[in-house]
Amino acid sequence: MKVKVVTRILEANERIAADNRRIFDDSGVYVINLMSAPGAGKTSLLERTIKELNKKLKVAVIEGDIAGTQDAERIGNLGVPVIQINTGGACHLDANMINEVLGELPLKEIELLFIENVGNLVCPAEFNVGEDMKMMLLSITEGDDKPLKYPLMFQESSALILNKIDLLQYTNVSIDKIKKDAMSLSPSIKIFEISCKTGEGISEWTDWLVKKVK
Ligand code: MG
Ligand code: ZN
Repeated sequence: MKVKVVTRILEANERIAADNRRIFDDSGVYVINLMSAPGAGKTSLLERTIKELNKKLKVAVIEGDIAGTQDAERIGNLGVPVIQINTGGACHLDANMINEVLGELPLKEIELLFIENVGNLVCPAEFNVGEDMKMMLLSITEGDDKPLKYPLMFQESSALILNKIDLLQYTNVSIDKIKKDAMSLSPSIKIFEISCKTGEGISEWTDWLVKKVK
């Protein structure tokens, strides 16, 4: 019985995700669903990325959090359109939550929409929201065992950004293991090593991003 209910929820989600997809296509917006654990640096990555793009792309952001507006305020300070969704306890964003706020964004004027998912390594990967691409941000301080422990996140992702690379010397983490395991789950995954603190690797990532979107 439980399985049936879950299936219906996911089927309903897929229908709404397809609606969102049509809206994004009509507006010519490229959409990235950004997923990570809490504290990996999703909002810091968006801040760095938006600054580095320096208006090369017209960007907007949807922030997903269980509560609060801190992330939306940080993005709003950069002068790009931002909407905060508070899930009120739900540990992921679904297609309907996105659908409900799309009318509040100037989609026709936007080229790239980031959807910052709720920090969680489990269910965000199960819910399509109509995105062009899912991507994973992993802080290396989370450990090199994460790809094999949370495989769906990595399987679903087209890109993997390894953040806080400046802290590598203080850890026993093997970047090679993370890369090898991520590529075993998603053979074509594109991997970047960055530090949002120092700026290392940011331009490689944004160069790739611009080519992807344009
Ligand atoms: Mg955040
Ligand atoms: Zn969830």
